[in-house]
Formats: sequence, C-alpha cells, structure tokens
Amino acid sequence: MSRTTIDFGIDLGTTNSSIGVIRGTEVDIILNNESQPITPSAVMVDKGGRIIVGRSAKEGLMKDHENAFCEFKLQMGENTEYVFRRSGRRSKPEDLSAEVLKSLKADVRLKLKEDIEAAVITVPAAFELPQCEATRQAAQQAGLHTTILIQEPVAAALAYGFQTESEKVYWLVYDLGGGTFDAAVMQVRDDEIRVVHHDGDNHLGGKLIDWAIVEDLLVPALLKEHRLPDFQRGNPKWEGAFHALKCYAENAKIRVSRDEKAYIDIPFICHEYPKPFEFELKRDDVERLARPIIIRSINLCKKVLAEKRLGFADIEKVLLVGGPTLMPYLRNLLSDTNDGLGIPLSYTNDPLTVVTHGASIYAGTKRLESATPIKAAKGQYVVDLEYKPSGPDTEPFVWGRVRGYDGEIPDGLTIEFINTDCRQQWRSGRIGISPDGTFRTNVLAEKGRRNVFSIELFDARGTKLNCQPDNFAYTVAIEIVDPPLPHNVGVALVNNDMNWVLEKGTPLPVRRKTDLKSAFEVRKGVKEHIIKIPLMEGQKARANRNKYIGTLEIYGDQITRDVPAGSDVEVTIHIDQSRQMVAKAYIPILDEEYELKFNKNGYSDKRNQEEIAKELEIQKKRLETVREKARGISDGDARRILQQIDEERMIQDVEKSLAASRTDRDASVKCEKRLLDLMSAIDEVEDAIEWPSLVSNAEREIEEERKIVNNNDFGVKPDEKRLFTDLEREVRTVMDTRDADHLALKVRELERLGITILFRQPGWWVGCLDHLENRRSTMSNQDLAGNYIAQGRRAINTGDLESLKAAVRQLWGLLPPGDKDREIFSTVGK
Ligand code: ADP
Ligand code: MG
Repeated sequence: MSRTTIDFGIDLGTTNSSIGVIRGTEVDIILNNESQPITPSAVMVDKGGRIIVGRSAKEGLMKDHENAFCEFKLQMGENTEYVFRRSGRRSKPEDLSAEVLKSLKADVRLKLKEDIEAAVITVPAAFELPQCEATRQAAQQAGLHTTILIQEPVAAALAYGFQTESEKVYWLVYDLGGGTFDAAVMQVRDDEIRVVHHDGDNHLGGKLIDWAIVEDLLVPALLKEHRLPDFQRGNPKWEGAFHALKCYAENAKIRVSRDEKAYIDIPFICHEYPKPFEFELKRDDVERLARPIIIRSINLCKKVLAEKRLGFADIEKVLLVGGPTLMPYLRNLLSDTNDGLGIPLSYTNDPLTVVTHGASIYAGTKRLESATPIKAAKGQYVVDLEYKPSGPDTEPFVWGRVRGYDGEIPDGLTIEFINTDCRQQWRSGRIGISPDGTFRTNVLAEKGRRNVFSIELFDARGTKLNCQPDNFAYTVAIEIVDPPLPHNVGVALVNNDMNWVLEKGTPLPVRRKTDLKSAFEVRKGVKEHIIKIPLMEGQKARANRNKYIGTLEIYGDQITRDVPAGSDVEVTIHIDQSRQMVAKAYIPILDEEYELKFNKNGYSDKRNQEEIAKELEIQKKRLETVREKARGISDGDARRILQQIDEERMIQDVEKSLAASRTDRDASVKCEKRLLDLMSAIDEVEDAIEWPSLVSNAEREIEEERKIVNNNDFGVKPDEKRLFTDLEREVRTVMDTRDADHLALKVRELERLGITILFRQPGWWVGCLDHLENRRSTMSNQDLAGNYIAQGRRAINTGDLESLKAAVRQLWGLLPPGDKDREIFSTVGK
C-alpha cells in the first residue's frame, strides 16, 4: 500500500539527528546501521575519500579535526565553508546537513526498503529565516523534494499531546540541546494545541558546559603538569588538542550525570604533543560550571512566561527535551521553587528522541501530494480526494471528484468507504456521484488509532471498478493551530528605527504590506544611486541590534525614470507555514516590482575580531557607568537586567568566544551574537535608568530656550529663530530613536543657541554677577573673588559692559572644576 501522508519525521539536531515514522498512532524511531536511535550530526572524509556520518565521524574529530566537522547546524545560512584537508572538498553548512539527511535516508532504505522523498524536518523555534531557507536547501540536496519545517518545541509538545485527554492547560517546553535553547509555552485546549509564546537562544546548550570543563578544569590541570606555550583555545597550533579535550570532556560530563566521578584518560594529547593526560572529573565541578548556563535558560523561561502574564502556577508541567535535561542537577535546579520555576517536570518521552517522535506524528497528518497528478489508465478511475488526514473530529468530512480515462463519467456511478479495522466494521453505504464526478460525505473514525478507509467504486449495475487510490487514512488527534512567527520581521529605517511589518506570534501563513517613503533621490541611469530596504528579524528597538536577513535593492540603472526622495514604496512580505519568505517592493511611480535577495554573507556589518575586541572594551566601560548610575536609583528593571548580565556571565562569554573564534567558526558567530545581546542588555539598563530623565530634561531645555528666543527684548535674529525651530524638531526626532548620546548632543546645541543670545544682553550679565556673588564661598580664591565682584559693581555703575563681562568671566574661572555654572561658560567658549 502506498503512503498517502508524509509519515517520516526528522530531528536534524545540532549534535544528534534521528528519523522516525508513524505507524497508526505510534511512532517507530528508525535505528541506524549501528542499531542506535540517534546519529551524531558529524561528517568526516576518511582516508579512502568516502564520506562518513555519525559516531565514527564524531570520534574522528578527536583524532583528525581537519577531516571531520560537527555542529555545522548553527552556521546554517551563514557564509562559511568547511574544508576537508584530505580531499580538499569544500562544503557549506547546508552541504554537511545534507550528508546527515542522506545518512538517515539510507537507514530508512535499509530498514524499510523505502526511498523517501518527503519528510517533516524540525528546526529550533529561534531559527531565523535564512537558517530555515538553508535547511530547505539541505533537504533538497539530500533528495527530500517535499519538506515541511516545524518548530522543535511544537513537535515535542505534539509528542506529549497527540492523544492527550487534558483540557485547557498550559505546558512549557524546555529544550536544551547541544547548542541551542528553546522555551515555548503551549496551550492545549478544545482538541487544539498552539504555541502561545516562545523565546530561545541559538547559542546556549550542552556544549558550553563541555567548553567550561575544558577551559576551567582540564587546561589548568594540564598546564600544571606540562609546559605548553600559549596553550589556549583559539590558538591554531593547539586546535587539535582542544578538539580532543572537548570530546573527552563531553563523554565524561555525560558519565557524571549517573556517577559521582568520571575518569578522563587521554592516551596522547595531540600529534604535536603526544603525551598522556589523566583527570578525575567530579560531578560537583560539572554542576558548578553548568549553573550559569542553566540559569540563563531559566531566565529565558521566566521571560517567556512573564511576557504572557503567566505565573508558574498556571503551567501544568514542563516538558523536558534535549540531552542536557538528563542531568539530575538540571532537573533539580529547574524544579527548585527558589532558583528555578517550581513547576512539575515531565520526561516520560525520551528527551533525545521526543522531537523526532512529534515530527513523525506531524508527518502523519500531512498529505503526500504526488508531484504529477495521476492519470487514469484505460478502464480505470482516479479519485481526487479532499480531506484532512488528521483532526479532532470523529466524523470527518470527505469530498472529491472521480475522473475517468476519457473524461466521461458514466451515469449511476457510486462510491463507498469502508473502515475495516475498527471493532465493528463500518461502511458508508453507496454514495451517488453527480454527473460532474463530485461526491461528498462524512466517514466514521475511531479514536486512538489510524483509521484506514478502503475506497470502492461501482458502476450502475453494481460491478466493482478499478480505482486509484483505493484507500486513505485518518487519525483522530489533537490539531496544531497555525504555527506562530517566532520573531518580528520588518524594515530598518534610516534613523535606526524599525518598522516591524510582522509581529512575533502572527499565525503563519501570512502576507502583509507596509507603505514606506524612499529616503534619498535615485536618478535614472546612475548606478551608484540605490534604494535600499534592509529587512531585519528580531525584537530590538534599535535596528542595528537585530539580525539582518537581506536587502531589497533598486539601482539607478534598473529604473526607467527618476525616483525623488519621499516617493512611495510598498513592501509586501509573505511567509508560509514552513517559514519560507518572499519579500517584494513595489514602486508606484515606476510601476515595477523588485524581489528580495537573501543575504548570503551573514551579518552585513559583521565585525572582525579586532573590532569585536574594541567594541567589547567600550561596552565594558559602558556597563560600569550604568552600574554606577543604577546604584543610586531604585529602578527594578535596571537592577534585574544588570543581575542577568552578571548571572549569565555575558562579558566573560564574549571574551571566551572571542578567544576561541580564531579557530572555531561557531564561536565567532556566537561571539558576535552575545556581544549584540550584551549591547542590547546595556541599552535596556540605560533606557531604564536614564531615558525618562533625559527626555524630560530635553523637554525642559526646549521650553527654556523657547522663552529666550521668543523674548522681544533680546533682539533675536531671524536665523536664530529658524535655528531654534530646526533644533527643536531634531531633538524631538532623536527622542524617538532612544539614542542617548545623540540626544545629549542635540540638547547641547539648543543650550548653546540660548546662551549666545543671552550673552548679548547686558541685563543677563548683571544677573550673572548677582548669582556669582552668592556663590562666592565656593570659589578658590576669596581675595581675588572680592576684587572681581567690586570690578563688576563699578562697571555696572559706569555702564561699562565689557568690563562687567571680563569680571564675570574671571569669577566663573574661580568656580571649582566641573561646576555646572562653569560648564555653561565652556560650552560657549570665551
Ligand atoms: P541537539 O538538539 O543539539 O542535537 P541533543 O538533544 O541531542 O542536542 O543533546 C546533545 C547534548 O546533550 C550534548 O551537549 C550532550 O553532551 C548532552 N547530553 C547527552 N546526554 C547527556 C547526559 N546523560 N547528561 C548530560 N548531558 C547529556
Ligand atoms: Mg534538539
């Protein structure tokens, strides 16, 4: 019997992958050639030039890191290449993922004798659009011509909820993998399961624990015994040694999830230094190192819940997904009522295969569309069926049309559906087919199993006819409501603001249009004139803190007439259920449409190591400044974010991955990402403590300067009035961008304008003298101060303005450095 639904589900994991198939309502995880349910996502080229995937490749990495790679999933969609030293083969991350998929397909071929061309593949909910695109490419390359992507947490929840009897509950999917973390709140209600909210981090996972073991424990111990110059992660000379150490660390880490201690016994460190090394890894130590990583994941869970105003008590259970959730310490910390969430945990499904499980269930609900419509052979009829292969309904609706070889539909045709496997065989009875070949009916399905209905077609005399297909399947099960968009998607504007076209959480598929104005003029035929519409994905208010996806670009030499600045530009974004995106820009005055090119170079403004190091220093200083300021302010938000920066060791994280990024490309992507996280976190603190006061300051300043400019006695010049209007507008624009430095700059300009006007007013200088006389006690030299005050008084009496100014200036100079009054003088100069 040929398949009518996709049935195969794949978890293409960062660390491990696996494939399953739905059989009825049960899922079989297909064991690989080594009889293992999971296959490490590692690829190696062996001495014979053959590609090897799985455990051997992962082990190969320990001995021969120049010919084996893993963790390439995190690079999907980035412009990186992996070069196999031995064969010179160059592979993109999606090529390596394709090898993993091919290997899973080969296991299916071996075990089930099926050559599959369609599958559901899971992706982390935090995956960005370019990464989804790369996943589709990998699948295509592996011969999976039909792929449906679903989010890993959705798959996991489906594995738990497929046949659930629970009603009206919330679950939290906690998925900590090798390199990524996802937290998703799911709601199960009225036979539907939906993602209510989610958040994730593509650079948080078990391997951070492995590296912490290497860097904090193994390396110091090793250096005590051996004199190895510059033995650091990131030094290309020791790359092999560090790969090996990490693999040993991981194995030992897994062992201490069960045993108190694990013995690491390395026969030789690396080719360059073939000496043995031994170390005893204690569970306590691993727990200490794992803590900040787990805390980071818990913080994300708290954020996800808080953003939906859900309390811990609202969540029925936490579904554990991913290898690291096998650690007893993680489970304790997570369920702890103080440090963790205090919500009961659920791990009845194996955390390592639960995602494959759910993916396969989902695959069972997706119809397998044949690429070319079946043609009826002579004497045969084709039944084009319309139905949902799965749903909560026990009497689902089925309709369709019958087609014959010559297009003729003889009179009196009938069709019958028979549910053969149920306790009491059920028959629909013969249903009449109308002259145009159509029919409609409801069938009866049983809960708890896959119902296979045979299809029988009869002519007017009751003779059974040959029809294709002759069966279809239906399962009574919970339904996944349209998956939500995991990140906002929108256009970056010139002032570094975002115009979010699609909000996170929007059900997919979706199509939405936004109207923009072009910022610059584009002349016909001038190649250098470009309308650029950068599309970004993320959540951050400042455009450059988000992930760049690609640009809609319209060049001067592509257009038929000039496009003045301020012209209308309509941008339409369409994203389907598998997060495939099409973005187009339509320019009405040209009546032309342009399509987005996906970014092939990773981050457009990707920084190099030196720039990251420099930026990090700037951010460290910034952090110290905001920390200092936050001390005097009782802002809960500011304190919370600062605490998060410390607990998650954000600075150290950037520093470590910066060091590692010299040899490890994953570390380099992560480094940039964590730096952005850090910057955004500091932005948030800054905003929380400073912004409201900065804005009210700016408002006050505008009003003060307005009074000066509008004072008819001051002889304000027309261009000064114009300057004020311009500056006021600029200050208000900057207020919207939340750019503190820029705002300070603009406010300073306003201030300067006011003071320039005041400087021309004799009365103002008189007022200054009075004011400074009151401040005499703070001045550095009392005798001098007395002299200047006397000079000023004399000047007022004789009407000598210049002498008065000179006296006031001298008095200013006697104020202590940094004094506010003295600053006014320095802003306007002498
Ligand atoms: P991915 O989703 O990235 O493919 P997995 O869910 O397969 O990841 O988890 C892989 C991670 O789980 C690795 O970091 C591995 O070291 C870790 N891991 C696997 N088993 C255990 C265990 N028993 N104790 C602790 N960590 C484990
Ligand atoms: Mg996973």
